[in-house]
Amino acid sequence: MPRPKKKRKVDNPPKMLGFKPFGIRFCDAEHVVMQYEEYEAIKLVIYDGLSHDTAAENMEVSRPTLTRIYNSALQKIGQGFVEGKSIVIKGGDFEFNKEWFKCKTCFKLIDGIKDPNVCVDCTTDFKNELINLNN
Ligand SMILES: [Zn+2]
Repeated sequence: MPRPKKKRKVDNPPKMLGFKPFGIRFCDAEHVVMQYEEYEAIKLVIYDGLSHDTAAENMEVSRPTLTRIYNSALQKIGQGFVEGKSIVIKGGDFEFNKEWFKCKTCFKLIDGIKDPNVCVDCTTDFKNELINLNN
């Protein structure tokens, strides 16, 4: 029986849903999909400057798995950069340490709300206007 795959821990959802190039004729259908755990690996290793060992501990994966996730993320960034494709961040095999949502109007990140009401930034009513980032 195959070992059940453990979910990778992601602490920080990205501020954006993806990334778009400019200065080229843009086709939304052509994009690279980056998983949340790939974004997290880039954040921890490049932005926070953590070693692969420490980043692996944070995400509760082995060091080789972290390196595999990180290399895959770099490959996707390279593809988007060179080919002028947008990068959409979605999906993956991960879990957040708390629930994360995003306002559909202003894209503000909101963590662990118990009673969704209105967005403090744009006052959009949250009833049907939240993007659920949790798997
Ligand atoms: Zn809002």
